[in-house]
Amino acid sequence: MNMLNMTLIIDLSYFLAAVLFIFGLKRMSSPVTARGGIVWAGVGMGLATIVTFLFPGMTNYLLMVIAIGLGGVIAWVSGKKVAMTDMPQMIALYNGMGGGAAAAIAAVELFSGKDHGLTFGILAVLGGFIGAVSFSGSLVAFAKLQGFKNTTLRFKGQQMLNLALLLSSLVVAVMIITQHSSGNLVSIFFMLSLVLGVTMTVPIGGADMPVVISLYNAFTGLAVAFEGFVQQNPAMIIAGTVVGAAGSLLTQLMAKAMNRSLAHVLFSGFGETIAEGQEVTGSMKPIDATDVGVMMAFANKVLIIPGYGMAVAQAQHKVWELTQLLIERGVDIKFAIHPVAGRMPGHMNVLLAEAGVPYDIIYDENEINSEFESADVALIIGANDVVNPVARTDPSSPIYGMPILNADYAKNVVVVKRGQGAGFSGIENALFFLDQTRMLYGDGQEVAGELIQAVKSL
Ligand code: NAP
Repeated sequence: MNMLNMTLIIDLSYFLAAVLFIFGLKRMSSPVTARGGIVWAGVGMGLATIVTFLFPGMTNYLLMVIAIGLGGVIAWVSGKKVAMTDMPQMIALYNGMGGGAAAAIAAVELFSGKDHGLTFGILAVLGGFIGAVSFSGSLVAFAKLQGFKNTTLRFKGQQMLNLALLLSSLVVAVMIITQHSSGNLVSIFFMLSLVLGVTMTVPIGGADMPVVISLYNAFTGLAVAFEGFVQQNPAMIIAGTVVGAAGSLLTQLMAKAMNRSLAHVLFSGFGETIAEGQEVTGSMKPIDATDVGVMMAFANKVLIIPGYGMAVAQAQHKVWELTQLLIERGVDIKFAIHPVAGRMPGHMNVLLAEAGVPYDIIYDENEINSEFESADVALIIGANDVVNPVARTDPSSPIYGMPILNADYAKNVVVVKRGQGAGFSGIENALFFLDQTRMLYGDGQEVAGELIQAVKSL
């Protein structure tokens, strides 16, 4: 095949890969089509990887095959094994690898000492900087979430140190671009960027880590896009831009749903220094599964609110079995999902989809909130912060201003949890002390099983 044909095949394949990325992402916007979307985007990525082998002048095929084989096997095995609740740290790790790969591409370009011209020089350096920050920052985020390093390191002058590192990187970057330097300056540049990623992330509390991971995801996308320009590689430009844009939007959405501004996440150290909020008074009133079974079986409308505890208990299958029994009895039953219920965006939707819950009875917070007033029962399974009314009423609470599900407006509220454990934010939940609230203590899966028996026995 001549060179022209080969270039045409490469260009067409990249175009197809780009179309697959964009359509895949579009399909991921709905749980109904999300699985298919991931497959489409995966095929696009596979195509973009294979076509790399056709590049004119490409060498080191064996090394490429070994790297792809190693990476593929590790990703396949870890992806199969990871628990749903460990997904955020897995994403942090993969994302860090993406940033590291972009930084490595920049390093190869910069160490070569080639004159890239001003624009490409700036892009290479920017991509290298952002990629390196994302790499080391994501690794710290992974370590924190995995529990390797739970302590949050803060010291006086931390922000000044970060600023000094940023400015030093900038100065070295300018020297690299203007002097086309390779060698030591490039090494110093990457050292500074990597250290900045670490020092930026260590002071951030565990509570804000998912937002930070999402931000680094956006960084990685941006870094890949910049390096794509340097390499003149359309697949990298498009994939990087798509990831950068999606990551930025997700970061914004998560920060909003958790009621944090991005500046607050990055510079305030939430999670370690949270306020306690006002003390909640009153008592929690227990109930048993038989009574809850009767209450739900004879209700007109029941809204189910799943939370992190349902994921821990892996109760989704039993919850769906219970739902089906109630539907058969004519109960109008819907699932109410808060945008940050669980530990990652879409966590509850994924679990419910896995259990086979049809999408048309799953509602987002803004769609369902007006229905709580007409609900006979709000059944809360392992959710806590996302139904805490202090977010509306107590300005001193760390979650004040966070949008919540209006479970407290329901005629009866039943809360399934194991004991007195707090939610992610670590604060008391005023909902548990209301007159219409009853506590059904136990592991989510066991309690759902008891409720099934209770409804069946009626
Ligand atoms: P949550 O506030 O973390 O509360 C979970 C509750 O589940 C706990 O109070 C716990 O009480 C209970 N639980 C734990 N294991 C259980 C089991 N086996 N069976 C039954 N209950 C169990 O959960 P949430 O209401 O879903 O709120 C999510 C929180 O995570 C929010 O604060 C959100 O901002 C934060 N967050 C979310 C994301 C995201 O993207 N989704 C990311 C980062 C942070 P017991 O110990 O008494 O059982």
